[in-house]
Amino acid sequence: MKAFTYVNAANEKEAIAALQSAERGRMLPMAGGMDLLGLMKDYIVSPERVVSIKGLDQTIAAGDGGLKIGAAVKIADLAEHAVARKMFPALVTAAEGVGTPQIRNMGTVGGNIMQRPRCWYFRNEEFNCLKKGGSRCFAVEGENQFHAIFGDGPCHIVHPSSLAVPVIAYGGRFRVAGPNGAREIDAGEFFQLPNANLYGENVLQPNEIITHVILPAPGQKSASYEVRFKQSHDWPLAAASVNLVMSGPTVKSARIVMGAVAPIPWRVPAAERVLAGKAITEAIATDAANAAVAGARPMSGNKYKIQIARTAVKRAILAAIRA
Ligand SMILES: Cc1cc2nc3c(=O)[nH]c(=O)nc-3n(C[C@H](O)[C@H](O)[C@H](O)COP(=O)(O)OP(=O)(O)OC[C@H]3O[C@@H](n4cnc5c(N)ncnc54)[C@H](O)[C@@H]3O)c2cc1C
Repeated sequence: MKAFTYVNAANEKEAIAALQSAERGRMLPMAGGMDLLGLMKDYIVSPERVVSIKGLDQTIAAGDGGLKIGAAVKIADLAEHAVARKMFPALVTAAEGVGTPQIRNMGTVGGNIMQRPRCWYFRNEEFNCLKKGGSRCFAVEGENQFHAIFGDGPCHIVHPSSLAVPVIAYGGRFRVAGPNGAREIDAGEFFQLPNANLYGENVLQPNEIITHVILPAPGQKSASYEVRFKQSHDWPLAAASVNLVMSGPTVKSARIVMGAVAPIPWRVPAAERVLAGKAITEAIATDAANAAVAGARPMSGNKYKIQIARTAVKRAILAAIRA
């Protein structure tokens, strides 16, 4: 690991002051450090200054019918928060599924959303892949069983954040702050495909940080469902979050987002339209799930993910309606 200086910022103002640099990557924030330290040890990032942002807001507060979650809230604390459990079960299910108790106790909400892709070519310093300034995505002709089935490349990562998927399903926003002040960004507009941003995954400017996740009032029914290789500590192979606004037994509107299938959390309006105006039955959930995966373009080793993603969407819909 390259030597670096360390600044412990007591609050948002100190964090922003300590992160001032025109050059992307020279100063980096560290929350729980679960992801950042691994990236530094593998020389994927080599900041000159690491700024601890554990001093950011660590509270979960009610507001405007929803919740305002501080970026420094531990994933474990979100998973155990009684109001979050009641109002935002899709988010709490996703939080409960993250890694192991140790990871949930160290990892923060902000760090989870900002974690970098797990692609083994990106993570291995021996591979100068597209995302690191190289000329090719090694997954195209290589080991691509965990890579994207949507998004059309040219880099085929999947976005690793379990929490980002339900945040988008709930119509959440991120409050971000930086040297030019604070702003709010619709979570659905936050993440970027590689053809818009090859070297990053989102619209955050250098030296901006996420300070809060803001969730508006949820629909009456919501749920997440994740499929994992084994029920232990790995990232999901596919996931889905569903948020339904109901009028009696009928769906007025739906938001459905898939995870681990594309370089960004993948919202599926075609599947949402299948549910709108209907009372959900197993057959309708199946139709929506089929619509969700209709445009998938798998690679040589990940065709199996289509069926898994379809199952995740169907089970998330049925879990929401039965809750
Ligand atoms: C074995 C294992 C299994 C895992 N399984 C899952 C899983 O199933 N689902 C899942 O989602 N994750 C999973 N993770 C990832 C884990 O949840 C993340 O590494 C962790 O949440 C990162 O949080 P952190 O606070 O430690 O972030 P850090 O490591 O401190 O930061 C991560 C990145 O985000 C940046 N950053 C941190 N906070 C902010 C902020 N507020 N604003 C802007 N940038 C910021 C940092 O500069 C860094 O680049 C797993 C990890 C391991 C090791």
